[in-house]
Amino acid sequence: MKSLKKVSIFGVTGSIGQSTADLILSDFERFDVCVVSAARSVDKLAEMAISLKAEIAVIADHSLLPRLEELLVNHDIKAMGGEQGLLDAASVPVDITVAAIVGMAGLKPLMVSIENSKAVAIANKEPLVSAGALVLKAAKEAGCKILPVDSEHNAIFQVFDPENMQHIKQIVLTASGGPFREWSREKMSVATVEQAMAHPNWSMGAKISVDSASMMNKALEIIEAYYLFEIEADKINVIIHPQSVAHSMVEYADGSYLAQMGASDMRTPIAYALAWPDRMQTCGERLDITALSKLEFHAPDCERFPALSRAYEVLEKGSWACIALNAANEVAVEAFLKKKIGFLDIMKVIDFVLESCDAKEIDSLEAVILYDEACRDIASNYIQAGLKSKVG
Ligand code: NAD
Ligand code: MG
Repeated sequence: MKSLKKVSIFGVTGSIGQSTADLILSDFERFDVCVVSAARSVDKLAEMAISLKAEIAVIADHSLLPRLEELLVNHDIKAMGGEQGLLDAASVPVDITVAAIVGMAGLKPLMVSIENSKAVAIANKEPLVSAGALVLKAAKEAGCKILPVDSEHNAIFQVFDPENMQHIKQIVLTASGGPFREWSREKMSVATVEQAMAHPNWSMGAKISVDSASMMNKALEIIEAYYLFEIEADKINVIIHPQSVAHSMVEYADGSYLAQMGASDMRTPIAYALAWPDRMQTCGERLDITALSKLEFHAPDCERFPALSRAYEVLEKGSWACIALNAANEVAVEAFLKKKIGFLDIMKVIDFVLESCDAKEIDSLEAVILYDEACRDIASNYIQAGLKSKVG
C-alpha cells in the first residue's frame, strides 16, 4: 500500500482550492488533509474542512474565529484565526502545500510553507511576480520542490528540461485572449464588470478573470515564467490561442516544439502537481481530441493590450517595478470590481504608480512588503483623487 500524502490547502474555498478539494475527494485514500484556510467564507470553510477530514481550519479574518469554532464544535478539527493563525498552520510539516490564496496576501504563508513542506504546488502567482527571486532562493535552500499549477507554467514544467537549458530556444505562453480578444479600445472603455468576468474558456476567481480580460494575467505569467524557469525575458513569448487546448509550449534548438494539451480544466494541472512525480486519475473534464477541428495561433496585439509590453518593461527595470506593477494592479482591479473605476483605468493606475514610485534595490522579504504597501498607497490615493495626479 502506498503511503498517504499529507497536504495543506491555503485558499481552499476559492476556484483553485475547490478544484483541489474535488481531486482529493475523488482519490481520498491517497491523501491526508492537514490544513485548509479561507479569508472570510467561514461556513464554506467549515463544510470543506469536515468533508476533507482536515486537522486544522484557519479563517484569516480573526473576527470570524468564534463562528468557525461553533461550526466545528462536534468535529476533531482545530480552528485557528488571523494572519498568525495562517502562519502557524503553514509551519506544520506536510508533503505538499497547495498555495491557492489570491494576491500578495499569500506571500507570508507561502514563505512559511516553503520551510515546512517537501513541495509547494503554487497557483498564487502574485508573490512570484513580486518576490520570485526570494521565493525560489528560499525553496532551494529549504530543499522544497516548487511545482507550478498555473496551467501555462504547469504545461511548460511538463515539457521542460531544466538540466538542458542550452537547448531551449523559447518558451511560448498561450493566451486565450480573454473575453475582449476582439474588442476595440473604445468598446473596452465602457466594459462592465460582468463582461470582464465572462471568460470564454475558463471558470476562475474574480481577480484573475479581470486580469485575463486586460491581459495583465499574461503579463504576470511572463514574469512568473521568468522566475520559475530562470530564463531570459527575451526567450519568453506570448501567442494567442483562442481554443485554450495547448496550454503552452517550448521550442528547442532543433526546431521541435513540445506542447502540453488538455481540456480547459484546472483539475489537470493541479492533479499533475498533487501526484508529482507520479500521475493520478482525475475527475476533471477530458479533452476530446477527435472533436478538435482547428487550433489557431496568432500574434498578440500589444496596442490594444498594453499590459503585455509592461511585463517586459518591468523585468528590464528590476524587481521594484515588478512589485509596483502587481501592487497597482491588485488595487486597481479591486476598485474596478467595486465599480469605482472603469476597465481601461486599471492600466492608467498601473502606469501612474510605475511613474511615481522610486527605483530601488529590493533584496529582502521585508523590503518587498514595505515597497508593495507604498505602491498600494500611491494607487489608492490616485483612485481616491479621481485619477488626477496632485502634481500634474
Ligand atoms: P479565488 O478568489 O477564487 O480564491 C482565493 C482564495 O484565497 C479563497 O479561498 C479566499 O478565501 C482566499 N483569500 C483571499 N484573500 C485572502 C487573504 N487576504 N488572506 C487569506 N486568504 C485569502 O481565486 P482563484 O481564482 O482560486 O485564484 C487563486 C490564485 O491562483 C490566484 O493567484 C490566481 O492568479 C491563481 N490562478 C488561478 C487560476 C484559476 O483557474 N482560478 C488559474 C491559474 C492561476
Ligand atoms: Mg494561467
